[in-house]
Amino acid sequence: MPELPDILIPKAFIAGEWRDAETRFAVTDPASGEVLAEVPDLGADATRDAVAAAEAAWPAWRKRTAKERANLLRGWYDAIMDHQEALARLMTREQGKPLTESRGEVAYGASFVEFYAEEAKRVAGETLPSHGVDKRILVFREPIGVVAAITPWNFPLAMITRKCAPALAAGCPVVIKPAEATPLTALALARLAELVGFPAGVINVVTASRPAEVGEVLTSDPRVRKISFTGSTPVGKKLLAQCAGTVKKASMELGGNAPFIVFDDADLDAAVEGAIASKYRNSGQTCVCTNRLLVQDGVYDAFVEKLAARVAELRVGSGLEEGVAQGPLINAAAVEKVEAHIADALAKGGRLVTGGKPHALGGTFFEPTVIADVSEEMRVAREETFGPLAPVFRFATEEQAIAMANATEFGLAAYFYARDYRRIWHVMEGLEYGMVAVNEGILSTELAPFGGVKESGLGREGSHHGLDEYTELKYVCVGGL
Ligand code: NAD
Repeated sequence: MPELPDILIPKAFIAGEWRDAETRFAVTDPASGEVLAEVPDLGADATRDAVAAAEAAWPAWRKRTAKERANLLRGWYDAIMDHQEALARLMTREQGKPLTESRGEVAYGASFVEFYAEEAKRVAGETLPSHGVDKRILVFREPIGVVAAITPWNFPLAMITRKCAPALAAGCPVVIKPAEATPLTALALARLAELVGFPAGVINVVTASRPAEVGEVLTSDPRVRKISFTGSTPVGKKLLAQCAGTVKKASMELGGNAPFIVFDDADLDAAVEGAIASKYRNSGQTCVCTNRLLVQDGVYDAFVEKLAARVAELRVGSGLEEGVAQGPLINAAAVEKVEAHIADALAKGGRLVTGGKPHALGGTFFEPTVIADVSEEMRVAREETFGPLAPVFRFATEEQAIAMANATEFGLAAYFYARDYRRIWHVMEGLEYGMVAVNEGILSTELAPFGGVKESGLGREGSHHGLDEYTELKYVCVGGL
């Protein structure tokens, strides 16, 4: 077995205890195929135990003062940052991303814990002007109750803290179901929470290789009052439908099809750097990754040439090696999807500029790829590739660019590069997206509300808005005064 950090206990964490099971499943390193650890393969019964533990922990947790909860969150933040290197190495081993990106994700994920430690003390209610001289209107903000968090493999740490930190700050206990490809980082996070003194049952982690069975309990059990999901749109729709039975409040951070628009007046070098960051980060496996590059006629050829030159410089290899810009893809199915999108684009007239095939390293390594002369009949126009493929579309006018950008059922992140200030306002307002980056390739921060419109999701994570997802308003009418 490979060396793993001492903060990892490869067992599920339920009611403050580390629980094993007769059946376990393997977690592998996508760069080498090596088995890193085996974790318990839990099902419906264990999930109900976790929900019961959270429900039992809730009354005491919500009664703690906000300052006590804030201090525990602050302690968790410090512990995460004290273990930044160990967590980053563990994440790179189980997920594949380059170590510099893993270190960045630990800091990014921890920033939510820090932010909500501060914000916990500001969950305020209000009094409103009343409808009678003998009455008063009070509005309380109360914790919603047990929260279930289902998270994806592409950000094994940050997707958990982005949900759990505001939930815990608001006074809610959590049951986490991490992705089956990356449960180890989640378990290390839970261990740190245990070490800093979170009470038993407030944080629970259920590991499972059959997510539907766990999801069924989390969406149908009436004791779970809120589900927060990050993952694909098809699974999100299924969970939303399941939540209808108990009218459960749900937040959904789903798929995207991000446009990255480059106008004639853009700073081309800055646009190329932005495109590299937004497209190839995490091997193209982020929900806010550029999926379509839309480039205006006047700069099309120059942009493609500059982009291809930069892409050809990206070093592919194990995320643990110094200087590597792109690690392996998560699994063989991910490689197949990228290959299918490339084959479809080339068959319909696309021009391969660089890359285009599995990398000589073998396994799930793939060459960073650029395809030009892409058109709207191709699969890449509509589907999220979730891999290192940059398809470059051509457009003539601003109106056409906005129409192309919006021609999708998704609406998560959009990017554009321009200098003319009227154009910047016009395009910013015309894009039907939850997040828009202007002359920037990266926009995630704990300080801003993250989330999408249309089929990209419901709700927001981060900033003070993120807390609203975990509180309910209670109106109290005080009469007879
Ligand atoms: P996925 O939907 O396959 O899995 C996400 C999680 O749901 C995993 O924990 C998985 O085990 C679980 N799951 C799968 N089927 C389930 C079921 N029937 N019931 C309950 N749980 C189930 O997605 P993925 O492949 O892990 O992640 C990639 C997707 O996530 C992409 O579409 C990406 O855009 C999206 N994503 C969105 C955001 C965002 O904030 N909007 C962030 C990261 C990833």
